[in-house]
Amino acid sequence: MAFPQEINRLLTKADARRSKLQAIYAQIPSTRCQRRAQCCSMLPEMSPLEALIAVLNLKAKTATASNTLLPKIVHYFFMNPIKVTSCPFLEENTCRIYNDRFFGCRAYGLWTPSTFDQIARVSRRVKKHLQAQWLALGVALPDHVVHFQAPYCRDVVGIDRQTISDHDLFKLHRQVDDLSSGLTPWHQAFKDLYFSDLSVAIASWLFGRRRAVQLKFLVVKDALNYQRHSTLDQILNESTNLF
Ligand code: SF4
Repeated sequence: MAFPQEINRLLTKADARRSKLQAIYAQIPSTRCQRRAQCCSMLPEMSPLEALIAVLNLKAKTATASNTLLPKIVHYFFMNPIKVTSCPFLEENTCRIYNDRFFGCRAYGLWTPSTFDQIARVSRRVKKHLQAQWLALGVALPDHVVHFQAPYCRDVVGIDRQTISDHDLFKLHRQVDDLSSGLTPWHQAFKDLYFSDLSVAIASWLFGRRRAVQLKFLVVKDALNYQRHSTLDQILNESTNLF
């Protein structure tokens, strides 16, 4: 996929911040988990800088690997209001960008249950708001998708029993955001135009932002209102030259 020129420029700037980002991540206790991958049931929210690092990972992959990963991300963009799919970076219980996985993935299981709950409540509120917007357009998103929440994980254990307080986790989260904030105007644009969602950004670069939204509406409406599930395949078949 050819990325817009301005994105290529930003990728160079993001690459220069990579070691600082890794230094922040290094302050999060390393964890051992039983790889149930429950936390990988959706693409996590990420900072604008982390989104660019994920794109750098995509670019660094072999053509075959990125040719499978990119359609998975686009598929996620179209299908996530219809069904709970896994994070597109997950493959057979393994993360394909593990060394660069997002802050949210690293902090999962380290928050206290009450803070985790608070964060989950905010995310549910946002999703309910989105559900109301879809309904106003005549499409009822399934409740089990809108209310889906990865459960609090009790299987994550800090290596050497290391722990971290919520206060320190929030502090590190702010540091990631501060590091990202130097990437203007991308830092704000990623949050405002792409809702901090890499799949929205990538679909917008491929189809154009307005067209991506129109196509998504068509796919979701056809699937939910008319049980027509071939619309997405049709769109992707017609767009193979974009990948
Ligand atoms: S980026 Fe990796 S660790 Fe994070 S949710 Fe996706 S698959 Fe899981």
